[in-house]
Amino acid sequence: MEVTQQQAPKDIGWIEVVVGCMFSGKTEELIRRLRRAQIARQKVLIFKPRIDNRYSSTQIVSHNTQALESIVIDKPQEILKLSKDAQVIGVDEGQFFDLSLVDVCEQLANDGKRVIVAGLDQDYRGKPFEPMPQLLSIAEYITKTLAICVVCGNPADRTQRKIVSADRVVVGAADSYEARCRKCHYIPE
Ligand code: ZN
Repeated sequence: MEVTQQQAPKDIGWIEVVVGCMFSGKTEELIRRLRRAQIARQKVLIFKPRIDNRYSSTQIVSHNTQALESIVIDKPQEILKLSKDAQVIGVDEGQFFDLSLVDVCEQLANDGKRVIVAGLDQDYRGKPFEPMPQLLSIAEYITKTLAICVVCGNPADRTQRKIVSADRVVVGAADSYEARCRKCHYIPE
């Protein structure tokens, strides 16, 4: 569910979370919401973790390459210092931050800001990917985006890793991952 203009809360902050697997359009959805806020002349800031160095180090870029200038940070705490004047705060690749992102988002929303976090809700094994599950439980608005399974064409919510690695985080795009449904997804060993 997405907050609309008619039902937008007044004089309070809130948290929106956009989750899904890779290639499900999470970042496009985050960018769409942030652009609309910018068009409404709201002060918008976008943050992303340093670990994600695909395509560009200073822009959030989705797989279909719409870009927005973003601030690269190492720790969620940096958002608090940098966003004093912001009304809308976007965070991309939320799964690459530690659990302190949850408290930071809570503080920002309590401070009257609209916070929108996009991220993977499952890791490559199909397990909940912290801190996204914790963010889902404190958010007012939740959107789950689905991709299309590359094997059978069903709605897909899992990210299939095509390379062998025991690391939870292996940054890559179409060459190393694809979207799969629960029937076609398997844990690579
Ligand atoms: Zn499938």
